[in-house]
Amino acid sequence: MNSGTVHIVGAGPANLVAAINLAKAGIDTVVHEQGNDVGLRFNGDFQGLENWSFNMEVMEFLRTVGVSVNFRCEPYHRADYYSPRLKKTVVRTKDPFFYLVRRGNDDDSLDQGLKQQAIAAGARIQWNDKLKHVPEGTVIVGTGPKAADAIAKGIVFQTSHPDACYCFLDDRIAPKGYAYLLVNKGKATFATCMFEDFRHERIYFRRALKVMRQIVNIDINHPREFGGFGNFFLGRPVSKDNRILYTGENAGFQDALWGFGLKYAMFSGYLAARSVITKTSFEQLCYDKLRPLMETTLVNRWLYAHVGNFGYERILSKISKIDDVLFILRKHHRYLTSKRILFNVAKRKYHTNLIDKQCTHEHCDCVWCRHCKKLQSNEMVFSPLKNRI
Ligand SMILES: Cc1cc2nc3c(=O)[nH]c(=O)nc-3n(C[C@H](O)[C@H](O)[C@H](O)COP(=O)(O)OP(=O)(O)OC[C@H]3O[C@@H](n4cnc5c(N)ncnc54)[C@H](O)[C@@H]3O)c2cc1C
Repeated sequence: MNSGTVHIVGAGPANLVAAINLAKAGIDTVVHEQGNDVGLRFNGDFQGLENWSFNMEVMEFLRTVGVSVNFRCEPYHRADYYSPRLKKTVVRTKDPFFYLVRRGNDDDSLDQGLKQQAIAAGARIQWNDKLKHVPEGTVIVGTGPKAADAIAKGIVFQTSHPDACYCFLDDRIAPKGYAYLLVNKGKATFATCMFEDFRHERIYFRRALKVMRQIVNIDINHPREFGGFGNFFLGRPVSKDNRILYTGENAGFQDALWGFGLKYAMFSGYLAARSVITKTSFEQLCYDKLRPLMETTLVNRWLYAHVGNFGYERILSKISKIDDVLFILRKHHRYLTSKRILFNVAKRKYHTNLIDKQCTHEHCDCVWCRHCKKLQSNEMVFSPLKNRI
């Protein structure tokens, strides 16, 4: 293997963004993907690129991380929220509230779009390729979540219902989370997303479906079940010697508040490419550019987890009187002094479900870490940020 080559493990959004940027910079880039295509963790379900974090509009965000839009990416300016008492609040926004994207390996999916852009930029993708040895040179590892801090259970289906977004806040159907229905051009995704009591996911899903059907008059044709999970953590090293760089959910880059992890993953892939291209510390880039937002979402999660059904009623009632909900959401995602102070409390209360089941890059014996232990016994190079949280 050519040591000037950057090897990328996993072809999720995080690493495809890294591949696009590296290949565009003229760096020989090989992506190793264990599946025979992109997006196989997903099922053609709809997800949202939210428009309230990262201090920039979604389109500007995509431009910043070097991505152009060659996939289904539909702006939504309206969402109908329902409180536990089924009181309706319509959220309308001037800028898009979010952009709907599709996940999976269908032609119009985000995953296929990013794959096409990576290939067009000159990256090579090797399918069915689970590496057994760590290659020479720089390696970027972004193999997705390792444990479940939040889970989603739902269905995708066909429908004649017009495009729409519905959201349900109620701990009886989505503990500490939300249930959502997204409809776009004859296809729909309905799911409940929960942050605790995963054992009863089926019960919550059944209840959520019942509530949704009570409210929305929608035909459900050819339903297919799907599910998935998300993983958030902080305070673990995101690189070894600036040679092995960990991206996306594999490194805990997620939105702790509601699980909107796509932009976090893509941005971490972009930072990994910047680190390689400019020969700067990936650890430091993440600390400067992602860490404040991660701390903020952890505080938001901690606060949200205390709200409960009574609180959802009050929040939605307040929202119904607000003109620009995006302004408020953006404000809540800023790294204000109050957030810094509350972070010290929130971090003590938060425990990820990650218990070193697979690679957590610390006290772990996966192929990446075994290799690095060997390296470190020779050089003893540790990240200066290792013990920070
Ligand atoms: C049901 C659900 C709904 C969601 N909704 C939203 C949403 O609305 N908005 C949002 O922003 N986010 C959402 N998310 C989160 C978002 O999907 C993730 O944050 C994002 O996919 C993480 O990207 P990634 O590149 O880190 O990992 P992944 O997308 O998981 O990609 C990892 C890739 O690595 C490959 N791989 C794994 N191990 C190996 C190996 N050893 N060798 C080679 N390849 C390997 C996998 O096959 C996969 O292709 C949702 C997640 C779920 C599960």
